[in-house]
Amino acid sequence: MFALDVPSEVQGTVDCCIVGAGPAGMTAAVYLARKRLSTAIVSKEIGGQVAWTLGIENYMGYQYITGRELTAKFEEQVRQFPVPIVVDEVSEIKTSGEQFTITTVGGREIAARTVIVASGKKPRELGLPNEKGLIGRGLSYCATCDGPLFANSEVAVVGGGNSAVQSIIEMSHVATKVYSISRSPWRADAVIKEKAERLVNVDKRVGFDVVELLGDRIVEGLRIRDKASGSEEIIRVKGIFVEIGLKPNSEFLKGILLLNERGEVIVNCACETNVPGLFAAGDVTNVHEKQIVVAAGEGAKAALSAHVYLMKKPGFSSDGPSTW
Ligand SMILES: Cc1cc2nc3c(=O)[nH]c(=O)nc-3n(C[C@H](O)[C@H](O)[C@H](O)COP(=O)(O)OP(=O)(O)OC[C@H]3O[C@@H](n4cnc5c(N)ncnc54)[C@H](O)[C@@H]3O)c2cc1C
Repeated sequence: MFALDVPSEVQGTVDCCIVGAGPAGMTAAVYLARKRLSTAIVSKEIGGQVAWTLGIENYMGYQYITGRELTAKFEEQVRQFPVPIVVDEVSEIKTSGEQFTITTVGGREIAARTVIVASGKKPRELGLPNEKGLIGRGLSYCATCDGPLFANSEVAVVGGGNSAVQSIIEMSHVATKVYSISRSPWRADAVIKEKAERLVNVDKRVGFDVVELLGDRIVEGLRIRDKASGSEEIIRVKGIFVEIGLKPNSEFLKGILLLNERGEVIVNCACETNVPGLFAAGDVTNVHEKQIVVAAGEGAKAALSAHVYLMKKPGFSSDGPSTW
């Protein structure tokens, strides 16, 4: 039924342009393609946060699957359909009322009748002066991606939520010692916390702020301050993993649609934003709970809402787009 050739670029006006190729965006693409709507994905990379995750135990159908395997399965399913995936970053979305223009950092312009924003979240930074300069030089926001570089070294993980505690477990198998620096006691899921609490090479500092990253050209350690007493301690490590939460990838949406105080796109339960024809799904939105299964479900809902929206347009037919 569907041609297997995937065009490398997007031609003409597509029925829907999806921003982001994480679980929300890729699920939306499959739903739209099955409705025979011409669809294109524009994404900085393929996989989103799932690609940074070591193991997943709560996506139905798999008792355990690695993030890379699940990403590959999602992509394989999208590639069954003629949905081009353009690897680029969206810098702006404009609307004329009838049509959207999606502009990318790479200089592309894509015309679309509807848009689904599924741009997810990115790591929050500590906000320390030399932080940017140390990224990739011992400072990382992703233990799954960069952890193996610190085999047989001492490292620190900053943060106390699910991601931080998962990183502590991951790094305890790679590094000789893992310092856990958190402002408050671990807030991770019980099953993750129990695993981490059994580890013998984890040294916990609870109630501490990171006040300085040590090292000019590469990470040499960090200075931490006890929030209660104000006393400071220097910890010498070769690697620092910052896992203090995530913030929505919504900068490029400012001024075009409504965001809440956390920068999340405000959607209703049909994934509609305040702009007709512009839908949003997954972690970038104010949806309750940020999980793969939730993002995938929201992606499906956004696609079905976009379909209903297009069907109501005078003269629009779902017989199959002319570009197929
Ligand atoms: C370390 C870690 C472990 C996790 N473990 C689990 C788990 O075990 N189980 C679970 O259910 N959930 C887990 N999660 C949460 C889960 O990964 C997310 O809820 C889910 O990936 C959200 O999907 P999404 O498609 O909304 O966004 P994302 O996965 O964030 O994908 C967003 C996509 O948009 C792209 N993008 C962003 N900005 C732009 C732009 N301007 N232009 C173009 N493209 C853009 C990104 O490159 C990316 O491809 C984990 C998250 C992390 C960080």
